[in-house]
Amino acid sequence: MVTSDGFETLAIHAGQEPDQVTGAVVPPVYQVSTYKQDGVGGRRGGYEYSRTANPTRTALEECLAALEGGTRAFAFASGMAAEDCLLRAVCRPGDHVLIPGDAYGGTYRLFARVLSEWGVTHTAVPLADLDAVRDELAARQVRLVWAETPTNPLLGIADLRALAEAAHGGGALLVVDNTFASPYLQRPLQVGADAVVHSTTKYLGGHSDVVGGAAVVTDPRLAEKLAFLHNATGAIAGPFDAWLTLRGIKTLAVRMDRHCANAARVADMLAGHPAVAEVFYPGLPAHPGHKVAAAQMRAFGGMVSFRVLAGPDAAVEVCGRTRLFTLGESLGGVESLIEHPARMTHASVAGSALEVPADLIRLSVGIEDCDDLLEDLRQALS
Ligand SMILES: *Cc1c(COP(=O)(O)O)cnc(C)c1O
Repeated sequence: MVTSDGFETLAIHAGQEPDQVTGAVVPPVYQVSTYKQDGVGGRRGGYEYSRTANPTRTALEECLAALEGGTRAFAFASGMAAEDCLLRAVCRPGDHVLIPGDAYGGTYRLFARVLSEWGVTHTAVPLADLDAVRDELAARQVRLVWAETPTNPLLGIADLRALAEAAHGGGALLVVDNTFASPYLQRPLQVGADAVVHSTTKYLGGHSDVVGGAAVVTDPRLAEKLAFLHNATGAIAGPFDAWLTLRGIKTLAVRMDRHCANAARVADMLAGHPAVAEVFYPGLPAHPGHKVAAAQMRAFGGMVSFRVLAGPDAAVEVCGRTRLFTLGESLGGVESLIEHPARMTHASVAGSALEVPADLIRLSVGIEDCDDLLEDLRQALS
């Protein structure tokens, strides 16, 4: 691969040269734990044991590094494992972290209930409010700013370039959870972020058939720390999971184009629907982050949230009435999903500052025929 290759080319070819021995066009599933050594220490291609490295996982890691424009990527058993490993690489007891006001529930739980026990503290800040972020950075020493944009489930937008400048000005690192946008829509490392994490379970995998995570960095020292911990703590992606994720990535660009087009039409329909109180979609001109999103994203993503005028009970009922939108957690697959964040994905933040409205519904808009999707939502809302 050459660095000037376009995104779609990298998605299909980076890390995936045809197999040297057989010519297999896609990387085989190296379902193997250990490798024959040619004499003690004589490792072929650097492989000795599959926790440390496995060729199928290497292919995925090289592809992810290319897509995000980083130097190294690490593939994990889940998005949470990637977050945990990155935070252990960077944070020490006594460190303080800024997290988004509506962080992913699992990320919030990691800070509130796991890292807190190890002396890492956090403050939730609305990252769309740069002055609030700068005030927090001025008020105390902060180790890192953890950003999501668009956020989950309220689709808030943060200005990544400005956040990176603010974080670095305060001596902090910027880490971006790029799960909702995917590298096709935005590449945080290119605008100053120090690390990107992913739940590859979502858009990168794209078919609701595999759980995985990734961390991507540029700084070689941070890469070394991550490589050490990845191997030392061992929450790696298995070979078949890595293979499924790679297969999904090949079609990321075409899938995202359709996700974005369908979501834009769904958001427009909902914005004009009498049963809907408020729609959250960064592609709507009235969205407070619309201008920033238009500047930093290729398109506005496949996630749409909305509030039901008739209240929380009605929202729960709507979630039970759709035919095509499947009631379920997760997102980013080819099939459309619907869920009630307050009772499902965000139940773990109930009672905290991150609590979400009880009349809110979140959609992961899939790549089905959009007319069918619109019809399904109309009948569920009627
Ligand atoms: C799903 C998700 C995660 C966690 O990833 P898992 O693969 O479920 O462990 C982290 N961040 C965001 C934004 C997510 O949607």
